[in-house]
Amino acid sequence: MPFDPKTDAKKVQGDLITLGYLPKGADDGKWGDGSKRAVKRFKRRAATSVYRINDAGAPADCGQADLFTGAVDDTVTDPTLAEMQKWITRKWKAPLGRFKLKTQGGATLREDVSDAWQSLATKIKGLGATIDGPYGDSKRRLAKVTKVGASSFSFHIVGRAVDLNQGLGGPPDHRYYVAKDFIATGNFWRIWCKAEKQDGTQGKEFKKGELEYWSFWGKTSQKAPAGWYIDLTTKITEDGKFERIKAHTGWEDNTNKSEWWHFQWVADKQATFEDECELIGITSKELKDAGYSETDRDRAPG
Ligand SMILES: [Zn+2]
Repeated sequence: MPFDPKTDAKKVQGDLITLGYLPKGADDGKWGDGSKRAVKRFKRRAATSVYRINDAGAPADCGQADLFTGAVDDTVTDPTLAEMQKWITRKWKAPLGRFKLKTQGGATLREDVSDAWQSLATKIKGLGATIDGPYGDSKRRLAKVTKVGASSFSFHIVGRAVDLNQGLGGPPDHRYYVAKDFIATGNFWRIWCKAEKQDGTQGKEFKKGELEYWSFWGKTSQKAPAGWYIDLTTKITEDGKFERIKAHTGWEDNTNKSEWWHFQWVADKQATFEDECELIGITSKELKDAGYSETDRDRAPG
């Protein structure tokens, strides 16, 4: 039987409440924009992401073969109704809070991101370099922002990004020598970390004048002292779990826009900021209350 909003709205709204896509009490029998949005969010999650939780709130991810194969839109087709029943039968719910947050080594991140960052920090320490804290930033609170260089849709808000200790980018404890790595895909940075041991057992040797870096304090190109340096950017990114980002336009005048310190988790970026927030337990209501419009919530995260 095809969906008829005149007679079926209340039932489908009830199912969307069970699935966690509409708030309790939203089954008023009127098929409006809120119901349509809930359907679209459900179908996007069902089609593009394996994350699910069960009745008890525990992870209950599905396999790739269980993904919904219909179109992601706000129409209630027969396959849509069948998919909703499949979720209800399997006790799947919207993955609100699928990932917990975890604080380790001074950084608060999503638990999977946190564990990966800590094991990377251990590996890098063994090479004679460091990505230890104190960090510039890790988990940032939910808020629309006005600060230059910050984003209201930042991966920091959803526990996927960490900012290295900027203090090591200059004296008195200068370890990070940040070189321009301006390539076809954008203006990136390459961080050379001065090796702990300077006896030739760690890193790559640069003779006097060979390693050019950018001084964000002097706003000039400088030459690093002769010595042994580790390509920290490669070490952080080589296994594909973390990535650097481009400098924002205007970085020359405003160091906040350079982003040389920022690294973020690569895997499973969600299509919308709202879906990304859902994974760490930020509800749609919290987003609304914080001033995020529907357009904001549908924006890509980052
Ligand atoms: Zn950052």
